[in-house]
Amino acid sequence: MTKIVNHWIGGKTAEGASGTYGPVTDPATGAVTTKVAFASVDEVDAAVAAAKEAYLTWGQSSLAQRTSVLFTFRALLDAHRDEIAELITAEHGKVHSDALGEVARGLEIVDLACGISVQLKGELSTQVATRVDVSSIRQPLGVVAGITPFNFPAMVPLWMFPIAVACGNTFVLKPSEKDPSAAVRLGELLAEAGLPDGVFNVVHGDKVAVDRLLEHPDVKAVSFVGSTPIARYIHTTASANGKRVQALGGAKNHMLVLPDADLDAAADAAVSAAYGSAGERCMAISAVVAVGAVGDTLVEKIRERAEKIKIGPGTDPSSEMGPLITAAHRDKVASYVEGAAAEGCEVVLDGTGYTVDGHEDGHWIGISLLDRVPTTAKAYRDEIFGPVLCVLRAETYEEGVALINASPFGNGTAIFTRDGGAARRFQLEIEAGMVGVNVPIPVPVGYHSFGGWKDSLFGDHHIYGNDGTHFYTRGKVVTTRWPDPADAPAGVDLGFPRNH
Ligand code: NAD
Repeated sequence: MTKIVNHWIGGKTAEGASGTYGPVTDPATGAVTTKVAFASVDEVDAAVAAAKEAYLTWGQSSLAQRTSVLFTFRALLDAHRDEIAELITAEHGKVHSDALGEVARGLEIVDLACGISVQLKGELSTQVATRVDVSSIRQPLGVVAGITPFNFPAMVPLWMFPIAVACGNTFVLKPSEKDPSAAVRLGELLAEAGLPDGVFNVVHGDKVAVDRLLEHPDVKAVSFVGSTPIARYIHTTASANGKRVQALGGAKNHMLVLPDADLDAAADAAVSAAYGSAGERCMAISAVVAVGAVGDTLVEKIRERAEKIKIGPGTDPSSEMGPLITAAHRDKVASYVEGAAAEGCEVVLDGTGYTVDGHEDGHWIGISLLDRVPTTAKAYRDEIFGPVLCVLRAETYEEGVALINASPFGNGTAIFTRDGGAARRFQLEIEAGMVGVNVPIPVPVGYHSFGGWKDSLFGDHHIYGNDGTHFYTRGKVVTTRWPDPADAPAGVDLGFPRNH
């Protein structure tokens, strides 16, 4: 029997009233296992109304009340790691250990939210003028929305809502319609943790649901993570509707390998970061830039390692890489490899046409490695979002940096070298939001913020960390005078107030 995933509104399951459903597929078998309800405008309005109602009390609740719920939620999430990872594997396809890693990185943000009291401490300046004090405080916004991608169905929502609700906001999440179950399970765990009804809501669906959130007058801010074209659209539309918005987009993450690098370590890192999660990570390394004479040796070391990757269902503990999210996406990824030679690339490994015995209808593709890729090739210019690694050659450090900086994307980047001076220069000269030095996927820990530059992020705030707290709160500055009874009356003074 097909499972049905419904909305989560006001602390309970809300059956899809629109009658529209979308299919959810097990990528390892190609079988439709689940139907997910697609929200109509009325259903989105019901979720926003529930969140607005809940904000009346949650927005006034004490820090202690809010963090107490989050501590309980943290314990529940920890206890249900495996179960959530299983939901992720069943709908996304990534291997179980990778899904567990995603939950662990999400937990880091809950840790941060449990300690939100420290981040929300205001500032006080005493005696800025005679008997005048000034304090700065931050207050919640109200109802805020999150729209999230398929590739991290638990972690990316967890980048958003723990901070938002810890700050006193209420939340409406529109997760990816391709793997919606983890989001609802998070809602159930929040309810079990004692979160009041309506503080966290989930509506499923497509553009209809998203567009309603973008225009709804009661939604004060929108956090989005997804592809660049949609991120740009979300930023433009939500901004035009007067909302605060952060919209994180796609990526093409480069790894610069200098001639003095430890090439075995660089090859290990390139293979792990390029093919982990089948390349469906916004921080995947998709382009290696080999500097000087190391190119041939590096490509050979990458090839040796990549050929050994075991591809299979995410539920099989021996699998290192699972299938892609949909058959259509698999075919699109394959088209880049199929067209690569004609565009001047050397095809070292061709993963097209790969299948797994007993799972022939799964969305499989093998490992592809393209060498001497020209910057004009589509495989280099586009975000492929699959297990395809491009290697480019540069004569010098400067040429490599110029190549990376010419990319329209600026999410993450890495340098592999033993030269501290070169690494320091790279940190300052590279145009990307997250930099790794001998670290291939530099996803910041929860107490720093995550975000890219250029076409990888639209908006002024990165996500979680201090930026997250700033995004989900607004500032207020209070200037106070408590006159001494002995003071002479100030009298009327129409001049601009001066401090003295
Ligand atoms: P996507 O842009 O297709 O979808 C993201 C969300 O937007 C989903 O909830 C989807 O339902 C919604 N959506 C899709 N089309 C829409 C439209 N026309 N109008 C309104 N809403 C729409 O992204 P995806 O395929 O789910 O995820 C993969 C992409 O996300 C990749 O580009 C990846 O790099 C990016 N990503 C970026 C980050 C980051 O932090 N920068 C993190 C994870 C994923």
